Amino acid sequence: MDSRVIADLILHLGRIAAGDGLAGGLTPVQWAGLRFFARANRFSRTPSAFAAFHGTTRGTASQTVKGLVARGVLRQTRSKSDGRSVRLDLTAKGRAILAGDPIETLVRAADALPAGVRGDFSVTLQRMLGCVVSQTGKPFFGTCETCVHFEGGSCCQEGLPAHVCGFLNEPLMDEERNGLCINFASGKPGSPRTPGVCAGQQ
Ligand code: SF4
Repeated sequence: MDSRVIADLILHLGRIAAGDGLAGGLTPVQWAGLRFFARANRFSRTPSAFAAFHGTTRGTASQTVKGLVARGVLRQTRSKSDGRSVRLDLTAKGRAILAGDPIETLVRAADALPAGVRGDFSVTLQRMLGCVVSQTGKPFFGTCETCVHFEGGSCCQEGLPAHVCGFLNEPLMDEERNGLCINFASGKPGSPRTPGVCAGQQ
């Protein structure tokens, strides 16, 4: 298949799945923010990380965040160690709105794929994403499992964290391993990309 057709299909899928109106009363960019803060880990739930993920300016990202806080779907907490930085978390109202996410149609389409196809498709999309971010200079948001900073902790000892983030020297609980992270660094086997290189150029 022609590569341009594939690129068109991906764009078209994203556009029609996102819906055409104010689903749940949120604009498309507010939906992008809500999805990001639902998936990002605790180190990345900041306006600047959202700006980097969404490919927008910090000012624009801050406006989106302000709108979401004002609507009561995000809660803003100031850092105890650094009074200037904030963390954003979904409120119960935010989680309820997220349950009506218009991209559920796309989720169901992915669900309908055979398991093997879904796995291959996920790897393919990760490779394409890695290639695009390396060409555009955008950061790659990955998860702990394939990050070079992911270290084993005191696994299985009651009350102790299962893992540690070597970059931030912070404990990581099991349930935190799948959060998107702005500090992700590839390099482990199975890592979603080789920095700066697209597969076809290797
Ligand atoms: S191990 Fe990597 S992905 Fe996980 S929190 Fe640390 S820097 Fe982020």
